[in-house]
Amino acid sequence: MSRYWSEIVHTLTPYVPGEQPKIEGLVKLNTNECPYGPSQAVLDAMAGQTTEALRLYPDPQAGSLKDAVARHHGLRADQVFVGNGSDEVLAHVFMALLRHEAPLLHPDISYSFYPVYARLYGVTTRELPLDAQFGIQVDDYLAAGPNGGIIFPNPNAPTGRAIPLADIERLLQGNPDSVVVIDEAYVDFGAQTAATLIDRHPQLLVVRTLSKSRALAGLRVGYAIGHPDLIEALTRVKDSFNSYPLDRAAIAGAVAAMDDVAWFDATCARIVATRERMTAALQARGFEVLPSAANFVFARLPGHAGAELAAGLRAQRVLVRQFSKPARIADFLRITVGTEAQTDVLIAALDTLLAR
Ligand code: PMP
Repeated sequence: MSRYWSEIVHTLTPYVPGEQPKIEGLVKLNTNECPYGPSQAVLDAMAGQTTEALRLYPDPQAGSLKDAVARHHGLRADQVFVGNGSDEVLAHVFMALLRHEAPLLHPDISYSFYPVYARLYGVTTRELPLDAQFGIQVDDYLAAGPNGGIIFPNPNAPTGRAIPLADIERLLQGNPDSVVVIDEAYVDFGAQTAATLIDRHPQLLVVRTLSKSRALAGLRVGYAIGHPDLIEALTRVKDSFNSYPLDRAAIAGAVAAMDDVAWFDATCARIVATRERMTAALQARGFEVLPSAANFVFARLPGHAGAELAAGLRAQRVLVRQFSKPARIADFLRITVGTEAQTDVLIAALDTLLAR
């Protein structure tokens, strides 16, 4: 092995995604996908691709999708960047927008892809601890001294806890000189979006995905919205990697998904209702459940090890996510909100487990 290669192997610790099982018939509540299929309009738009269209390269700008996203948020198309899942959007953010003379600030318990990108792009980071209730304290970020950027999900993952818009506004007011990235992967399930602050705060970038509330994890579409200068920086980095991040079917499907507001509203409401039922059922069994504004809950059962609970559920074909690090969250389960029927199976499996 060459020295260079072995250095890369030892420096980079890749992100480990939740299990995508090869066996069928599992109740899959481990990676926060939508339990319902996407809007029929999405399927129709994708099936409508002609051979003549597929023969040709897609629009490198994905202009129709940028227009649809801009319409949705009341912005202009030059305030929109699109990518192959929000993970790719985030990769470009790390490359293009973070300053290197001061650390990137992010919560100690957060989306575990951030440290991976930071290592890949040589960005130094400083983790700020969540408070005793697993909440993000904006004052900690304001008091942290110079930073090269700030990033966190709202609602946070894997905790599901959201902070109010007023806190994000305060963070922006006190931090005018570096980019603030709010990762809104789960915002549609009950948190307040920061998209409304974009026109007043040029250092704000909001990142979204179509993987959760639009049921398109398999299509890989995400986007960022912000000041045109931030978008231009992202576009330059993107064009240096791959000027065609989205294929024709993905663009067509994503446009249809953005436009089908009735499907979107009904699906989000359905998931939120199931989340509340699941939360009550878990609490009735002694679980401590953090207040969730996401399509998952983060819960622990005092006196029970998280890894054992997760293994006990898996033995009954129910998949949930458990993180062994940091130790503070090792006893929590992150459980995706499934269908009503999947929720019944989860609760029955827990009852079987706890009766032993
Ligand atoms: N941000 C957060 C906080 C997430 O949990 C996820 C999903 N793992 C993503 C971004 C990435 O989503 P995707 O790449 O599917 O758009």
